Amino acid sequence: MNDRLLVLWHFAATRWFRDTRDRVRLLARQQARLRCFLGKLVTRSPYYRGMPPELSSLPVITKREFLARFDQLNPSGITLQEASAIALRAEQERDFRPQLAGGITVGLSSGTSGSRHVFLVSQADRCRWAGQVLGRMLSPASLRQVLNPFARPLRIAFFLRAGSNLYSTLSSRRVHFSYFDLTLPFDGLMRRLAELDPEVLVAPATVLAAIARRESEHATGLQPRQVISVAEVLDPRDRQLIEAVFRQPVAQVYQAAEGLLGSTCKEGRIHLHEDSLHVEPVWLDDSRDRLHAIITDFSRTAQWFVRYQVDDLLRLSPTPCPCGSANLCLSSIEGRAEEVLWLPDPRGVLAPVFPDTLRQAIYTMEPPPDRYRIEQHGRRWEVRIRPAGDIAETAMAVALSRMADSLDLAKPDIHFSPWIDPPPAEKPKRIRCISRPA
Ligand SMILES: [Zn+2]
Repeated sequence: MNDRLLVLWHFAATRWFRDTRDRVRLLARQQARLRCFLGKLVTRSPYYRGMPPELSSLPVITKREFLARFDQLNPSGITLQEASAIALRAEQERDFRPQLAGGITVGLSSGTSGSRHVFLVSQADRCRWAGQVLGRMLSPASLRQVLNPFARPLRIAFFLRAGSNLYSTLSSRRVHFSYFDLTLPFDGLMRRLAELDPEVLVAPATVLAAIARRESEHATGLQPRQVISVAEVLDPRDRQLIEAVFRQPVAQVYQAAEGLLGSTCKEGRIHLHEDSLHVEPVWLDDSRDRLHAIITDFSRTAQWFVRYQVDDLLRLSPTPCPCGSANLCLSSIEGRAEEVLWLPDPRGVLAPVFPDTLRQAIYTMEPPPDRYRIEQHGRRWEVRIRPAGDIAETAMAVALSRMADSLDLAKPDIHFSPWIDPPPAEKPKRIRCISRPA
Protein backbone atom coordinates (compact mmCIF):
# COMPACT_ATOMS: atom_id res chain seq x y z
CA MET A 1 0.00 0.00 0.00
CA ASN A 2 1.11 3.54 -0.72
CA ASP A 3 2.68 5.10 2.43
CA ARG A 4 0.30 8.03 2.61
CA LEU A 5 -2.73 5.74 2.34
CA LEU A 6 -1.28 3.55 5.06
CA VAL A 7 -0.88 6.57 7.38
CA LEU A 8 -4.44 7.62 6.57
CA TRP A 9 -5.74 4.12 7.24
CA HIS A 10 -4.12 4.00 10.69
CA PHE A 11 -5.29 7.53 11.38
CA ALA A 12 -8.91 6.64 10.59
CA ALA A 13 -8.73 3.28 12.39
CA THR A 14 -7.35 4.93 15.54
CA ARG A 15 -9.65 7.90 15.51
CA TRP A 16 -12.99 6.61 14.30
CA PHE A 17 -13.16 2.85 13.94
CA ARG A 18 -11.85 1.64 17.27
CA ASP A 19 -14.41 1.20 19.98
CA THR A 20 -12.46 1.01 23.23
CA ARG A 21 -15.32 1.58 25.66
CA ASP A 22 -16.12 -2.02 26.43
CA ARG A 23 -13.25 -3.73 28.27
CA VAL A 24 -14.52 -7.27 27.60
CA ARG A 25 -14.60 -6.63 23.84
CA LEU A 26 -11.28 -4.77 23.95
CA LEU A 27 -9.58 -7.73 25.62
CA ALA A 28 -11.26 -10.28 23.31
CA ARG A 29 -9.98 -8.42 20.24
CA GLN A 30 -6.56 -8.12 21.85
CA GLN A 31 -6.44 -11.89 22.55
CA ALA A 32 -7.38 -12.71 18.95
CA ARG A 33 -4.58 -10.52 17.55
CA LEU A 34 -2.15 -11.84 20.15
CA ARG A 35 -2.85 -15.50 19.21
CA CYS A 36 -2.25 -14.74 15.55
CA PHE A 37 0.99 -12.87 16.38
CA LEU A 38 2.35 -15.59 18.69
CA GLY A 39 1.59 -18.31 16.10
CA LYS A 40 3.89 -16.54 13.63
CA LEU A 41 6.46 -15.60 16.27
CA VAL A 42 7.32 -19.18 17.29
CA THR A 43 8.02 -20.15 13.68
CA ARG A 44 9.89 -17.01 12.61
CA SER A 45 12.07 -15.97 15.55
CA PRO A 46 15.18 -18.09 16.22
CA TYR A 47 14.82 -17.26 19.90
CA TYR A 48 11.18 -18.35 20.28
CA ARG A 49 11.29 -21.27 17.82
CA GLY A 50 9.88 -24.43 19.39
CA MET A 51 8.33 -22.61 22.36
CA PRO A 52 4.55 -23.01 22.88
CA PRO A 53 2.61 -20.08 21.36
CA GLU A 54 1.13 -19.06 24.71
CA LEU A 55 2.16 -15.83 26.31
CA SER A 56 2.36 -17.15 29.88
CA SER A 57 4.92 -19.80 28.92
CA LEU A 58 7.30 -17.36 27.19
CA PRO A 59 10.14 -15.80 29.22
CA VAL A 60 10.02 -12.24 30.54
CA ILE A 61 12.76 -10.19 28.84
CA THR A 62 14.62 -7.29 30.45
CA LYS A 63 16.34 -4.59 28.45
CA ARG A 64 19.73 -6.21 29.09
CA GLU A 65 18.52 -9.57 27.75
CA PHE A 66 16.81 -7.91 24.83
CA LEU A 67 20.04 -6.22 23.77
CA ALA A 68 22.04 -9.43 24.31
CA ARG A 69 19.69 -11.32 21.93
CA PHE A 70 19.08 -8.42 19.59
CA ASP A 71 19.70 -10.33 16.33
CA GLN A 72 17.31 -13.13 17.34
CA LEU A 73 14.56 -10.68 18.18
CA ASN A 74 14.16 -9.04 14.77
CA PRO A 75 13.04 -10.77 11.56
CA SER A 76 16.00 -9.47 9.52
CA GLY A 77 18.70 -10.86 11.85
CA ILE A 78 20.27 -7.39 12.21
CA THR A 79 22.95 -7.46 14.91
CA LEU A 80 23.23 -4.95 17.74
CA GLN A 81 26.68 -3.96 16.40
CA GLU A 82 25.30 -3.14 12.92
CA ALA A 83 22.36 -1.19 14.32
CA SER A 84 24.48 0.69 16.90
CA ALA A 85 27.08 1.68 14.31
CA ILE A 86 24.42 3.24 12.07
CA ALA A 87 22.64 4.95 14.98
CA LEU A 88 25.86 6.41 16.39
CA ARG A 89 27.02 7.69 13.02
CA ALA A 90 23.62 9.34 12.48
CA GLU A 91 23.82 11.00 15.91
CA GLN A 92 27.36 12.26 15.41
CA GLU A 93 26.77 13.53 11.86
CA ARG A 94 23.25 14.77 12.75
CA ASP A 95 21.98 13.05 9.60
CA PHE A 96 19.16 10.66 10.39
CA ARG A 97 18.45 9.36 6.90
CA PRO A 98 20.67 6.25 6.78
CA GLN A 99 18.64 3.07 6.54
CA LEU A 100 19.37 -0.62 6.65
CA ALA A 101 18.29 -2.96 3.85
CA GLY A 102 14.52 -3.36 3.52
CA GLY A 103 13.75 0.25 4.53
CA ILE A 104 14.55 -0.40 8.20
CA THR A 105 15.50 2.70 10.20
CA VAL A 106 17.57 2.60 13.37
CA GLY A 107 16.74 4.85 16.31
CA LEU A 108 18.72 5.51 19.46
CA SER A 109 16.90 6.19 22.68
CA SER A 110 18.41 7.14 25.98
CA GLY A 111 15.17 5.92 27.58
CA THR A 112 13.58 7.13 30.77
CA SER A 113 15.84 4.78 32.72
CA GLY A 114 18.99 6.30 31.28
CA SER A 115 20.75 3.45 29.49
CA ARG A 116 21.16 3.39 25.74
CA HIS A 117 18.64 1.48 23.68
CA VAL A 118 18.80 0.89 19.95
CA PHE A 119 15.56 0.17 18.13
CA LEU A 120 14.51 -0.80 14.61
CA VAL A 121 11.52 0.56 12.76
CA SER A 122 10.20 -0.61 9.36
CA GLN A 123 8.42 1.52 6.80
CA ALA A 124 5.09 -0.05 7.83
CA ASP A 125 5.85 0.68 11.53
CA ARG A 126 6.60 4.30 10.65
CA CYS A 127 3.31 4.75 8.82
CA ARG A 128 1.39 3.11 11.66
CA TRP A 129 3.17 5.31 14.20
CA ALA A 130 2.43 8.50 12.27
CA GLY A 131 -1.23 7.57 11.73
CA GLN A 132 -1.73 6.60 15.36
CA VAL A 133 0.00 9.66 16.81
CA LEU A 134 -1.99 12.03 14.62
CA GLY A 135 -5.19 10.04 15.16
CA ARG A 136 -4.84 10.11 18.92
CA MET A 137 -3.37 13.55 19.46
CA LEU A 138 -4.80 15.98 16.87
CA SER A 139 -7.53 18.13 18.38
CA PRO A 140 -10.75 18.64 16.38
CA ALA A 141 -9.59 22.19 15.49
CA SER A 142 -6.20 20.95 14.24
CA LEU A 143 -7.90 18.20 12.24
CA ARG A 144 -10.26 20.74 10.62
CA GLN A 145 -7.20 22.76 9.58
CA VAL A 146 -5.57 19.69 7.98
CA LEU A 147 -8.76 18.80 6.11
CA ASN A 148 -9.53 22.34 4.92
CA PRO A 149 -7.65 22.85 1.61
CA PHE A 150 -8.04 26.65 1.93
CA ALA A 151 -6.44 26.84 5.39
CA ARG A 152 -2.67 26.99 5.74
CA PRO A 153 -0.97 23.63 6.42
CA LEU A 154 -0.81 22.58 10.07
CA ARG A 155 2.63 23.46 11.46
CA ILE A 156 4.06 21.08 14.03
CA ALA A 157 7.29 21.93 15.89
CA PHE A 158 9.03 18.89 17.29
CA PHE A 159 11.93 19.30 19.79
CA LEU A 160 14.10 16.25 20.29
CA ARG A 161 17.74 15.45 20.84
CA ALA A 162 17.80 13.22 17.75
CA GLY A 163 15.83 13.37 14.54
CA SER A 164 14.61 10.23 12.91
CA ASN A 165 12.96 9.01 9.76
CA LEU A 166 10.14 8.17 12.10
CA TYR A 167 9.30 11.82 12.59
CA SER A 168 9.70 12.98 8.99
CA THR A 169 7.02 10.42 8.04
CA LEU A 170 4.55 12.97 9.40
CA SER A 171 5.29 15.59 6.74
CA SER A 172 2.91 16.05 3.85
CA ARG A 173 1.29 18.88 1.89
CA ARG A 174 -1.26 19.51 4.64
CA VAL A 175 1.08 18.95 7.61
CA HIS A 176 4.39 20.82 7.92
CA PHE A 177 6.68 19.20 10.38
CA SER A 178 9.78 21.07 11.68
CA TYR A 179 12.41 19.34 13.72
CA PHE A 180 14.38 21.29 16.37
CA ASP A 181 17.71 19.71 17.29
CA LEU A 182 18.29 20.10 21.05
CA THR A 183 22.06 19.75 20.73
CA LEU A 184 22.09 23.26 19.13
CA PRO A 185 22.12 26.51 21.19
CA PHE A 186 18.73 27.18 22.77
CA ASP A 187 18.59 30.90 21.77
CA GLY A 188 18.76 30.05 18.08
CA LEU A 189 16.07 27.42 18.45
CA MET A 190 13.79 29.94 20.16
CA ARG A 191 14.23 32.44 17.32
CA ARG A 192 13.35 29.77 14.76
CA LEU A 193 10.35 28.71 16.83
CA ALA A 194 9.01 32.28 16.94
CA GLU A 195 9.38 32.53 13.14
CA LEU A 196 7.62 29.21 12.58
CA ASP A 197 4.71 30.11 14.89
CA PRO A 198 3.47 26.52 15.14
CA GLU A 199 -0.07 25.36 15.88
CA VAL A 200 1.25 22.23 17.59
CA LEU A 201 4.27 22.26 19.89
CA VAL A 202 5.81 18.88 20.80
CA ALA A 203 8.82 18.59 23.14
CA PRO A 204 10.18 16.76 26.19
CA ALA A 205 8.54 18.07 29.37
CA THR A 206 11.57 19.98 30.67
CA VAL A 207 12.02 21.66 27.29
CA LEU A 208 8.36 22.72 27.21
CA ALA A 209 8.89 24.25 30.64
CA ALA A 210 11.95 26.18 29.41
CA ILE A 211 10.05 27.43 26.35
CA ALA A 212 7.19 28.53 28.60
CA ARG A 213 9.61 30.29 30.96
CA ARG A 214 11.22 32.07 28.02
CA GLU A 215 7.81 33.05 26.64
CA SER A 216 6.72 34.47 30.01
CA GLU A 217 9.90 36.60 30.15
CA HIS A 218 10.01 37.89 26.55
CA ALA A 219 6.55 37.48 25.05
CA THR A 220 7.08 36.56 21.38
CA GLY A 221 3.40 35.89 20.77
CA LEU A 222 3.90 32.14 20.66
CA GLN A 223 0.40 30.68 20.87
CA PRO A 224 0.32 27.00 20.01
CA ARG A 225 -3.14 25.48 19.93
CA GLN A 226 -1.83 22.17 21.22
CA VAL A 227 1.10 21.49 23.56
CA ILE A 228 2.28 17.89 23.76
CA SER A 229 4.88 16.51 26.15
CA VAL A 230 6.94 13.50 25.02
CA ALA A 231 9.87 11.35 26.10
CA GLU A 232 10.11 12.60 29.70
CA VAL A 233 8.05 12.51 32.83
CA LEU A 234 5.97 15.68 33.18
CA ASP A 235 6.74 17.26 36.54
CA PRO A 236 3.64 18.84 38.19
CA ARG A 237 5.43 22.18 38.64
CA ASP A 238 6.44 22.22 34.98
CA ARG A 239 2.88 21.38 34.01
CA GLN A 240 1.53 24.35 36.01
CA LEU A 241 3.97 26.73 34.38
CA ILE A 242 3.35 25.47 30.83
CA GLU A 243 -0.41 25.52 31.25
CA ALA A 244 -0.35 29.02 32.76
CA VAL A 245 1.76 30.46 29.92
CA PHE A 246 0.00 28.76 27.00
CA ARG A 247 -3.43 28.77 28.66
CA GLN A 248 -4.31 25.19 27.79
CA PRO A 249 -3.75 21.66 29.13
CA VAL A 250 -0.56 19.77 28.25
CA ALA A 251 -1.19 16.47 26.50
CA GLN A 252 1.29 13.63 26.96
CA VAL A 253 2.63 10.91 24.71
CA TYR A 254 4.22 8.06 26.60
CA GLN A 255 6.76 6.67 24.20
CA ALA A 256 10.02 4.77 24.52
CA ALA A 257 12.22 2.49 22.40
CA GLU A 258 9.60 -0.11 23.24
CA GLY A 259 7.11 1.85 21.16
CA LEU A 260 4.14 4.13 21.56
CA LEU A 261 2.92 2.92 24.95
CA GLY A 262 0.27 5.42 25.89
CA SER A 263 -1.16 8.91 25.52
CA THR A 264 -3.57 11.29 27.21
CA CYS A 265 -7.28 11.33 26.38
CA LYS A 266 -9.48 14.43 26.26
CA GLU A 267 -9.76 14.28 30.07
CA GLY A 268 -5.98 14.64 30.33
CA ARG A 269 -5.36 11.15 31.73
CA ILE A 270 -2.80 8.76 30.28
CA HIS A 271 -4.18 5.51 28.88
CA LEU A 272 -1.99 2.61 27.86
CA HIS A 273 -2.62 1.56 24.25
CA GLU A 274 -4.01 -1.88 24.88
CA ASP A 275 -5.46 -1.99 21.38
CA SER A 276 -1.95 -2.53 20.01
CA LEU A 277 -0.16 -3.76 23.14
CA HIS A 278 -0.72 -6.47 25.68
CA VAL A 279 0.09 -5.20 29.18
CA GLU A 280 0.81 -7.47 32.19
CA PRO A 281 1.15 -5.56 35.45
CA VAL A 282 3.83 -6.55 37.96
CA TRP A 283 2.52 -5.06 41.21
CA LEU A 284 5.11 -3.47 43.44
CA ASP A 285 2.93 -3.07 46.52
CA ASP A 286 0.07 -4.91 48.17
CA SER A 287 -2.39 -2.11 47.52
CA ARG A 288 -1.97 -2.70 43.75
CA ASP A 289 -1.11 0.91 43.18
CA ARG A 290 2.39 0.96 41.68
CA LEU A 291 3.48 -1.34 38.90
CA HIS A 292 6.04 -2.20 36.26
CA ALA A 293 4.49 -3.07 32.92
CA ILE A 294 5.46 -6.15 30.96
CA ILE A 295 4.43 -5.42 27.40
CA THR A 296 3.91 -7.50 24.29
CA ASP A 297 3.58 -5.44 21.14
CA PHE A 298 1.66 -7.44 18.53
CA SER A 299 1.69 -4.63 15.95
CA ARG A 300 5.35 -3.88 15.29
CA THR A 301 6.99 -5.63 12.37
CA ALA A 302 10.73 -4.78 12.54
CA GLN A 303 11.35 -6.01 16.07
CA TRP A 304 9.69 -8.34 18.55
CA PHE A 305 8.95 -6.94 22.00
CA VAL A 306 7.43 -9.96 23.73
CA ARG A 307 6.92 -9.97 27.51
CA TYR A 308 9.35 -7.09 27.68
CA GLN A 309 9.75 -5.44 31.06
CA VAL A 310 9.57 -1.64 30.86
CA ASP A 311 11.71 0.07 33.53
CA ASP A 312 9.36 2.95 34.35
CA LEU A 313 7.45 2.97 37.57
CA LEU A 314 3.74 3.50 36.80
CA ARG A 315 0.82 4.37 39.06
CA LEU A 316 -2.60 3.15 38.12
CA SER A 317 -5.54 5.51 38.46
CA PRO A 318 -7.81 4.32 41.28
CA THR A 319 -10.96 5.48 39.45
CA PRO A 320 -12.17 4.82 35.89
CA CYS A 321 -11.61 7.67 33.46
CA PRO A 322 -14.67 9.85 32.70
CA CYS A 323 -13.74 9.73 28.98
CA GLY A 324 -15.14 6.20 28.91
CA SER A 325 -12.06 4.47 27.46
CA ALA A 326 -11.61 0.94 28.80
CA ASN A 327 -7.83 1.06 28.27
CA LEU A 328 -5.83 0.98 31.53
CA CYS A 329 -5.59 4.49 32.92
CA LEU A 330 -2.52 5.85 34.74
CA SER A 331 -2.49 8.53 37.39
CA SER A 332 1.23 9.14 36.75
CA ILE A 333 4.49 7.90 35.32
CA GLU A 334 6.87 8.28 38.22
CA GLY A 335 10.38 9.23 37.50
CA ARG A 336 12.51 12.12 36.80
CA ALA A 337 12.38 15.64 38.05
CA GLU A 338 15.23 17.97 38.97
CA GLU A 339 17.18 16.51 36.10
CA VAL A 340 17.85 19.80 34.37
CA LEU A 341 21.34 21.22 34.99
CA TRP A 342 22.35 24.85 34.46
CA LEU A 343 25.33 26.62 32.89
CA PRO A 344 25.94 30.31 32.16
CA ASP A 345 25.83 31.54 28.55
CA PRO A 346 28.39 34.12 27.25
CA ARG A 347 26.36 36.94 28.84
CA GLY A 348 26.45 35.16 32.19
CA VAL A 349 22.74 34.27 32.04
CA LEU A 350 21.93 30.75 33.21
CA ALA A 351 20.72 28.41 30.47
CA PRO A 352 19.25 24.92 30.84
CA VAL A 353 21.02 21.70 29.92
CA PHE A 354 18.27 19.14 29.43
CA PRO A 355 18.67 15.57 30.65
CA ASP A 356 18.14 14.20 27.12
CA THR A 357 21.00 16.34 25.80
CA LEU A 358 23.24 15.31 28.66
CA ARG A 359 22.47 11.63 28.29
CA GLN A 360 23.06 11.96 24.59
CA ALA A 361 26.55 13.39 25.14
CA ILE A 362 27.36 10.56 27.53
CA TYR A 363 25.98 7.77 25.39
CA THR A 364 27.94 8.77 22.31
CA MET A 365 31.15 8.14 24.32
CA GLU A 366 32.84 5.01 23.06
CA PRO A 367 32.39 2.88 25.09
CA PRO A 368 29.69 4.59 27.19
CA PRO A 369 30.12 4.16 30.96
CA ASP A 370 28.36 1.24 32.56
CA ARG A 371 26.89 3.50 35.22
CA TYR A 372 27.20 7.17 35.98
CA ARG A 373 25.81 9.89 38.23
CA ILE A 374 26.13 13.62 37.83
CA GLU A 375 25.21 16.01 40.61
CA GLN A 376 25.34 19.74 40.16
CA HIS A 377 26.43 21.84 43.17
CA GLY A 378 26.61 25.39 41.80
CA ARG A 379 29.36 25.58 39.17
CA ARG A 380 30.76 22.29 40.38
CA TRP A 381 29.57 19.07 38.71
CA GLU A 382 30.31 16.05 40.80
CA VAL A 383 30.64 13.06 38.51
CA ARG A 384 30.85 9.38 39.41
CA ILE A 385 31.36 6.72 36.79
CA ARG A 386 31.85 3.02 36.68
CA PRO A 387 34.12 1.59 35.39
CA ALA A 388 36.35 4.48 36.52
CA GLY A 389 39.98 5.17 35.55
CA ASP A 390 41.90 7.93 33.79
CA ILE A 391 40.76 7.03 30.27
CA ALA A 392 37.07 6.88 31.19
CA GLU A 393 37.29 10.13 33.18
CA THR A 394 39.04 11.97 30.38
CA ALA A 395 36.46 10.71 27.87
CA MET A 396 33.63 11.88 30.13
CA ALA A 397 35.21 15.30 30.66
CA VAL A 398 35.71 15.70 26.89
CA ALA A 399 32.12 14.64 26.16
CA LEU A 400 30.68 17.12 28.68
CA SER A 401 32.93 19.97 27.50
CA ARG A 402 32.03 19.30 23.86
CA MET A 403 28.35 19.34 24.79
CA ALA A 404 28.75 22.71 26.56
CA ASP A 405 30.59 24.07 23.48
CA SER A 406 27.85 22.95 21.11
CA LEU A 407 25.28 24.68 23.34
CA ASP A 408 27.49 27.80 23.47
CA LEU A 409 27.62 27.64 27.28
CA ALA A 410 30.47 27.86 29.80
CA LYS A 411 32.15 24.54 30.53
CA PRO A 412 31.17 22.90 33.82
CA ASP A 413 33.72 22.61 36.60
CA ILE A 414 34.00 18.81 36.66
CA HIS A 415 35.20 16.83 39.70
CA PHE A 416 35.35 13.05 39.74
CA SER A 417 34.46 11.13 42.89
CA PRO A 418 34.66 7.41 43.56
CA TRP A 419 31.61 5.33 42.67
CA ILE A 420 29.22 4.43 45.47
CA ASP A 421 26.10 2.33 44.96
CA PRO A 422 22.85 4.17 45.69
CA PRO A 423 20.56 2.60 48.32
CA PRO A 424 18.65 -0.21 46.53
CA ALA A 425 15.24 1.08 47.60
CA GLU A 426 15.73 4.37 45.79
CA LYS A 427 15.09 4.85 42.10
CA PRO A 428 18.59 5.92 41.07
CA LYS A 429 18.79 9.51 39.90
CA ARG A 430 21.58 9.64 37.38
CA ILE A 431 21.33 13.36 36.81
CA ARG A 432 20.42 15.71 39.57
CA CYS A 433 20.64 19.42 40.23
CA ILE A 434 21.26 20.03 43.93
CA SER A 435 21.93 23.76 43.50
CA ARG A 436 22.24 26.11 40.54
CA PRO A 437 25.27 28.39 40.07
CA ALA A 438 24.91 31.71 41.91
ZN1 LIG B 1 -9.60 8.92 29.53
